[in-house]
Amino acid sequence: MHFESLGLNNYILDAVKAEGYETPTPVQEKAIPVALDKKDLLVSAQTGTGKTAAFVLPMLQRLSQDKKNADKHLLRGLILVPTRELAMQVGESVVAYGKNLPFKSVNLYGGKKISAEKERLEKGVDIVVATPGRLVEHIKEGSLKLDNINFFVLDEADRMLDMGFINEIRAIGEVMPKGRQTFMFSATFTPKVVNLGKSLLRKPKIIEIARQNKTAETIEQKVHFINSDMKIDLLSYMIGSQNFKQVLVFTRTKDGTDNIAKELSAAGLPATAIHGDITQAKRTKALKQFKEGKFRVLVATDVAGRGLDIKDMDYVINYELPSVPEDYVHRIGRTGRAGKKGLAISLVSAYDVAYLFEIEKLIGLKMEEIKTEGYVFDERIPDRGEQHNQRDRRKAAKARKHTPKPEKKKRYSEKPKKLKQTKRNRYEGS
Ligand code: AMP
Repeated sequence: MHFESLGLNNYILDAVKAEGYETPTPVQEKAIPVALDKKDLLVSAQTGTGKTAAFVLPMLQRLSQDKKNADKHLLRGLILVPTRELAMQVGESVVAYGKNLPFKSVNLYGGKKISAEKERLEKGVDIVVATPGRLVEHIKEGSLKLDNINFFVLDEADRMLDMGFINEIRAIGEVMPKGRQTFMFSATFTPKVVNLGKSLLRKPKIIEIARQNKTAETIEQKVHFINSDMKIDLLSYMIGSQNFKQVLVFTRTKDGTDNIAKELSAAGLPATAIHGDITQAKRTKALKQFKEGKFRVLVATDVAGRGLDIKDMDYVINYELPSVPEDYVHRIGRTGRAGKKGLAISLVSAYDVAYLFEIEKLIGLKMEEIKTEGYVFDERIPDRGEQHNQRDRRKAAKARKHTPKPEKKKRYSEKPKKLKQTKRNRYEGS
């Protein structure tokens, strides 16, 4: 199938060609004709399948057909996304795919001054890409009205719900015209997602691109069992000795990202960290520098896991496994995008074993085990009964986080120096 047969106009087709796309991806092939037929859509598609173009291209086409409002820059298209990073990335796609069209768009998200966004809105825009919280802020302050929205996209609906945006989404749904066309995209069709779909969509066409929670076949998934206190050394050894160029490393905690980035940088592997507590300006800068190759490693929490579109990224390493199994699918979806090959390695200590078990069950795949000489795993693995207890212990630990505790030394500085130097020398010499 060719893009020409989807029914898109030449301005859009030229922009798509300029992006280097030759044929539509399955989600584009299925969703675009339905969208152009003015139907609502509920789509389950994995990250990296080309889903952004699947909703942006028909949105642009529909706006182009609205000749009456062609030059008014009246807000008619709204795309809601869960994170700032995704807002920026989708916003970039809107600009790229719409570069031959007269539409104006703006990205609205927290972490930067609202006044600059208001100025842009005052001048008039056709399309808004926004996170729910910031959009509601604009609605409350009267700087934006959704009266004329006729094309609404809810991207990564499952993530939105996980992040607790349900009230904002419902409030936004209330103030939009009922006759609009709505698209809902989600990696997974959980009952909550389906329920939300029922309230926002009208007789939607359902498109399932991949089996629920399936990971892309282009991604090799491996597991390396390792003692917790050897993880950082194994990580730097792996990246250094195998000469991984652009690596995305995921951790569960914000502190963890900073510590790992510091350790890797000290070991001669330039690394930077992004997570929710870092200011938006710094996150944008870190991402830009990583994309430009100034940093070899980007260490991130799951918040950053969504919305990162880094071309030609070959490696994702899970320093710790996520506690929500679906997050694993999203994490590793950062590689192997649009049919390219990718490698995802998970470093699993006794603490992660329970999570590995849940993830393998979810994705229906047993990961291939890899080993590295000198890096051992002899921590005791909790049995299944204990895994549940371990979960309870985690909950208790979370609660303790909010109560005062004695000052504790950072984990990495507690490690015996000798071990660190030995491992470092191993790959520096290679
Ligand atoms: P997405 O799932 O929308 O985040 O897209 C993943 C990646 O695929 C992005 O880098 C897009 O630029 C790229 N992409 C989207 N559609 C196509 C296509 N038809 N052919 C090749 N690459 C594409």
